[in-house]
Amino acid sequence: MAFRIKPKNKDESQVKSFFKIAGEIRKSQSITTYGPGALIDFPRMSGILAGIDNWENTLGKTNFNKLKIHERNLERILGKKYFVQPQTKEDEKNIHGIIVERFPQFCYCPECGALDRYYKIEKKTNNTKDYNRDSFCGICFQSKGRDVKLIPSRFVVSCKCGHMDEFPYDAWVHRKTGRCAEPKLSIEISKKTNSLEGIIIKCQCGAKENLDGIMDRNALYQFKCYGSMPWLGKKENNKGWYTELEQGEACDEPLRVLQRGANNVYYPDIVSALTIPPYSSRLQRILESDMEVLEQYNEMPEVLRKQNYDYYYTKNKDRLRCSPEQYYDSLVLEFGFENNKPININDLLVGEYSALCDEDCSDPDFLTIESEVPEEFHGLIDQVKIVGRLREVEVLKGFRRIAADEGELAPLSKKAMDWLPGNELFGEGIFIRLNEDKVSKWEVKNADRYSMIISRTKENFYASTKISEGNIRYVLLHTLAHLVIRELTMKCGYSTASLKEKIYSSISSDKLMCGILIYTASADSDGSLGGLARQGVTENLRDTLLEALESASWCSNDPICIDSKSQGYASLNYAGCHACALLPETSCEINNILLDRAALIGTSDNNSLGYFYSVFS
Ligand SMILES: [Zn+2]
Ligand SMILES: [Zn+2]
Ligand SMILES: [Zn+2]
Ligand SMILES: [Zn+2]
Ligand SMILES: [Zn+2]
Repeated sequence: MAFRIKPKNKDESQVKSFFKIAGEIRKSQSITTYGPGALIDFPRMSGILAGIDNWENTLGKTNFNKLKIHERNLERILGKKYFVQPQTKEDEKNIHGIIVERFPQFCYCPECGALDRYYKIEKKTNNTKDYNRDSFCGICFQSKGRDVKLIPSRFVVSCKCGHMDEFPYDAWVHRKTGRCAEPKLSIEISKKTNSLEGIIIKCQCGAKENLDGIMDRNALYQFKCYGSMPWLGKKENNKGWYTELEQGEACDEPLRVLQRGANNVYYPDIVSALTIPPYSSRLQRILESDMEVLEQYNEMPEVLRKQNYDYYYTKNKDRLRCSPEQYYDSLVLEFGFENNKPININDLLVGEYSALCDEDCSDPDFLTIESEVPEEFHGLIDQVKIVGRLREVEVLKGFRRIAADEGELAPLSKKAMDWLPGNELFGEGIFIRLNEDKVSKWEVKNADRYSMIISRTKENFYASTKISEGNIRYVLLHTLAHLVIRELTMKCGYSTASLKEKIYSSISSDKLMCGILIYTASADSDGSLGGLARQGVTENLRDTLLEALESASWCSNDPICIDSKSQGYASLNYAGCHACALLPETSCEINNILLDRAALIGTSDNNSLGYFYSVFS
């Protein structure tokens, strides 16, 4: 994906030709790591990725339409009409990319210490049209005739609503003396210490403060958040960043100081779905790719609509390869949405789970083949499915800052749009379903062991969505998924980050779920790293499972690890640490929590606690 830097104070529709490519990133990171609102460091500048308000404008209508994708179930869940993929360099010669606003604007000179917004202290250049340029210190150029590159401020401020602004250097240095009439700031960074105490801000009036304590929770209690949203551009009058607040109004959330490159600057909220029957069929996918046209017909009066639909059928008969009846049934599916009944994320998981458990399916984007359960696992594992091909759509709903699980989602656009940014990924996988009866017995038997983890989940947003009273099977399924992924990476040489998991776990009587899907999903349309599906063949799977369980019985941190009941984030892991059970963030659906090796193989004084204990006895 290409990023373009937006000229200051200009509307992008007028200045398209001024856009310069500021940098590029891989498509797979384009919404997960670098979505609208994220901060990004380019070689020449630091920026914030702009919201989606102007995507259609900057991409151009034709291009924009080409980048639309559909995932009907996700559209129903999110109440959107379609999703749009960020454009990649591979897509087109003329990339229009995504706009970047220069942020933070505060910079300092490492030589003379000048500290201000870049355009106030930078060396004047004739090349003002080139907004993606290095900024050099104007003061050093004047006095020494040398180019010294300005460095962007390391700190920004934010609140839990996602608002973001410059660190208030001016107010901070004058917080005891009161503001002065002519502030002129400089920074002095001590080489003797790395601490914030060693960073001293000075003003020409004599005021002086170091930055000690700015990272404290309430360091900025004297300051207010004015709701700036730099990723949504400037205010209409061009005075300051866009905000939803009225002039002079402040937001209720306290301001916090964040470091530009830190994780807590951007937590994307992403939902993903597998495309499953009936939407995965060849016919359905063709109709979706022509949705632009078909949707227009749909808005016409009935007679005309029918004529156009018929015309489309006749024209595309060779491509559609179906009877008129099948064609019309498919249209109803696309447009009928089963009477537009809204569905939620849980319905989606239930749908995926039943599609995986169902008879083999040979849709182009959902190809499943039953595989035989290895003999050693009869009675423990009920079903194994090889997923020869799958399509996953991931969509960015919004983002949070400071904490991943608190506060409202920050918006991606000024006005709510009828679409969101999304990515279409392809891959393959292995689905394993455990024996429901055996698992529910295991749950009853081990309820006591997990009472502590259940009470801790009540404090935690992530965990509470996955595990409820009695639903401790999630720990069993999740740990199994992690150990199998670790084993597959070692055995087949995948990078751990390329494998992902989906845990299907529910004890509600109308939709019992008890399975895991381990899969790859990448932006290349061939999607396959080769061979993950092959690992689902009985012989291979037997070895993988046995080795995964074997490795579950040992951790370099044992006996501390195996006996532990509080490891990891918010003490939400029992026997599970970096050495034995954790995965890279991108592979885990839930932040590497709710893991316990003992759920699989038991502990030294209680073997039978392990679901798979019998395999080894
Ligand atoms: Zn300088
Ligand atoms: Zn001053
Ligand atoms: Zn705020
Ligand atoms: Zn461990
Ligand atoms: Zn996980």
